Amino acid sequence: MRNRALITGVTGQDGFYLAEELFRCGYQVTGLVRGQRNPMVPALRRQLPDLDIVHGDLLDQGSLITAVDAVQPDEVYNLGALSFVPSSWQQPMLTSETTGLGPLRMLEAIRVVSGSNGSTSSQPGIRFYQASTFEMFGQVSSSPQDEMTPFHPRSPYATAKAHGHYTTQNYRESYGMFAVSGIMFNHESPRRSEEFMTRKVSVAVARIALGLDQELRLGNLCAQRDWGYAGDYVTAMRTMLQADRAEDYVIGTGAIHSVRDLVRIAFDCVCLDWEKYVIVDNDLLRPDAGVLCGDARKARQRLGWSPLTSFEQLVSSMVEADLHRLSAAPAHDRRSRR
Ligand code: NDP
Repeated sequence: MRNRALITGVTGQDGFYLAEELFRCGYQVTGLVRGQRNPMVPALRRQLPDLDIVHGDLLDQGSLITAVDAVQPDEVYNLGALSFVPSSWQQPMLTSETTGLGPLRMLEAIRVVSGSNGSTSSQPGIRFYQASTFEMFGQVSSSPQDEMTPFHPRSPYATAKAHGHYTTQNYRESYGMFAVSGIMFNHESPRRSEEFMTRKVSVAVARIALGLDQELRLGNLCAQRDWGYAGDYVTAMRTMLQADRAEDYVIGTGAIHSVRDLVRIAFDCVCLDWEKYVIVDNDLLRPDAGVLCGDARKARQRLGWSPLTSFEQLVSSMVEADLHRLSAAPAHDRRSRR
């Protein structure tokens, strides 16, 4: 029998890579999609023709119960969320409902459909993965961060994620469910949405190289992040659900790079001098949260996981993908920024 997986957030960056990874491992994969005319569905059907789709919404408890009941998954990966931190300040209630209460609704759906407790470490049943985030660490006083680092969430997104994280722990401890969280640091790819820094840079560099733009405006070039490749991180998600014991893990590269490193490497990919094009815009400056860097020793030791893709490889793959996409686009599409 093939393992069956249900993924929420399948139209997002990680959902796509995770579905690909699970197909490679022989799974039958279903993606939960919200909205009657989700614009991502045609591309998803083209790129992942074996993906089954079930409709549902993390805001709607009944739809999750129906989806879990219809799919009867062995594993549920809850990646669905409103995931852009600045937007969470504009829509704090919706963020809390989706990103914070969404995991609770999914855990309840599993509990209801399983008749009791889902899977435990010793019994088969439905195993649950929650997409937690380094943003829960917030303002840090020590670096790097590991599973013992206290949380100090500093945005509606981070507080909502902390709720999802503790709910996952609570269902594991109270119901004995096999429910785990991956506390993941930033991970990027050519599929990253354009509002995020790395993709903003790769799109801008490709546009400048093609003569479509002249400048890239950024905030603090000294800000540092632990950036990894999404394709490597979904392997960690899958591996966490194969472990003998249900435990939470920090997933990061352990290396930090500045925004300046990012733009330098990205402009190097198109043989341009970044200093001629990058403008520091004071309106884009944000308070920095200290050095956020993941200590993934536990994942390395217990899961055998470590990142395979270097920062340089990640950045150049993003710039190359945007160059390719923009070069292939009709002229009127290339002129617009989207
Ligand atoms: P994306 O923003 O690319 O994807 C988010 C997904 O959530 C989309 O598929 C979106 O679907 C879905 N979604 C939003 N609202 C709902 C809802 N009400 N019901 C069902 N689905 C919904 O995120 P990523 O792929 O980058 O990240 C995956 C998860 O990992 C997220 O939970 C994110 O917060 C978390 N994470 C990501 C990190 C990163 O660096 N990428 C770091 C740490 C954690 P739709 O098409 O309907 O909009």
